Amino acid sequence: MAHILILGAGYGGLRTARELAKHASSDTKIDLVNDSELHVEKTGLHTIAAGTRKADAISFKITDVIPSKVNFIKATVSNIDVDNKKVSFSDHDDMTYDYVVVALGFRSEDFGLEGASENALILESVKTAEKIYDTIEKNISNYKTSNDPADLSIVVCGAGFTGIEMLGELVDSTQVLKAKYNVPDITVTCLEKATSILPMFDSELAKYAVNYLTNHGINIITGADIKKINKGSVEYQMGDDTKEVKANSIVWTVGVSGSDVIKDSGFDARRNRVMTTSYLNLEDHPEAFFIGDDSAMIPEGQDRPLPTTGQLATAQGTITAQNIANAINDKPLVKFDYKSKGTVASLGQNHGIAELPNKMKFRGHIASFMKHMSADVGIFEVAGLKTTFRKGTL
Ligand code: NAD
Repeated sequence: MAHILILGAGYGGLRTARELAKHASSDTKIDLVNDSELHVEKTGLHTIAAGTRKADAISFKITDVIPSKVNFIKATVSNIDVDNKKVSFSDHDDMTYDYVVVALGFRSEDFGLEGASENALILESVKTAEKIYDTIEKNISNYKTSNDPADLSIVVCGAGFTGIEMLGELVDSTQVLKAKYNVPDITVTCLEKATSILPMFDSELAKYAVNYLTNHGINIITGADIKKINKGSVEYQMGDDTKEVKANSIVWTVGVSGSDVIKDSGFDARRNRVMTTSYLNLEDHPEAFFIGDDSAMIPEGQDRPLPTTGQLATAQGTITAQNIANAINDKPLVKFDYKSKGTVASLGQNHGIAELPNKMKFRGHIASFMKHMSADVGIFEVAGLKTTFRKGTL
């Protein structure tokens, strides 16, 4: 009897578990481990941070969505020993395996920047997202007594996917907070090191997104290399000048790494991402699969790993399940050949930009509809139809 251990019940892990339950023979033992009983749609964390949605809308109980063939274990992974096929936990006895799937997700990356971990609010879990919104609201409500403009100032560090989607939500929620606490205008500033933003989109779409945000009062400063985060201000370099923005709400969306378990286990990795074969396993340990944010795979004929997204992790979960079932049945493994369904970014709950693989472009409400639809498809792929009806946004 083969024992499969899936570490992490995010998009990749949950999808692997569901697909394995379909493919694997009845005597296969499938254990799914996660440090919480909830699956969180991490692509929606920015909505919690901006206060446009509540945590319950993006979370669901793992045992409600896994097939009966999959056994759920709540435990926190601390080490993966591929030589001895053994996983250790901080709160559970060691477990051995025949096949392991590492899908432990991401953590926020501060790149060692001075003051970032102490003075900026990171976005990596429901807890940290709620802390961001609580801080923003507390500072805005405090303005009436403090009269400190920094209480009405929010800085978003980094204009990657997460930063842009966070700004879009803030367009909506700062209006609500302004009215609720009867305060003057709330200032939202975004500092981005690169000189152009959203390079993954066609330039016209990227321009549309920037115009939408600036027309709604967001101040996007590109070419701003953040150097230091103080309590109450962000220092950045522009050319030869050092500048500062004062803000009591500083949100850090400057990039992510894979799980620290990768580093702690001594894997050869870059930003906690382990390089895999095109079958998504390790060259010298074919029974060990790495997917989603903990992995890097360079497609044939390309020179860079695929960018990490929820869509990618889910697609990798499908192939990993198929490959483990094939390996158990002595069949050849299949290569992961990623076909992106397109790229979508939201600009609040009702606006967005979208680009399909055939280069068709969409903006505004239709792109927002596509974003909601892709989120619902994402839920369907990891949790099935019933949960999509319950938690979907359409
Ligand atoms: P990111 O790496 O995509 O963006 C971080 C941004 O911060 C970059 O634009 C970078 O230039 C900027 N930056 C870095 N250092 C800086 C500094 N010192 N000063 C100023 N700016 C600086 O990270 P993210 O936005 O957190 O996204 C993480 C991952 O999740 C990415 O792979 C992303 O593609 C994915 N994601 C996808 C979606 C989606 O598909 N809709 C949504 C959210 C996140």
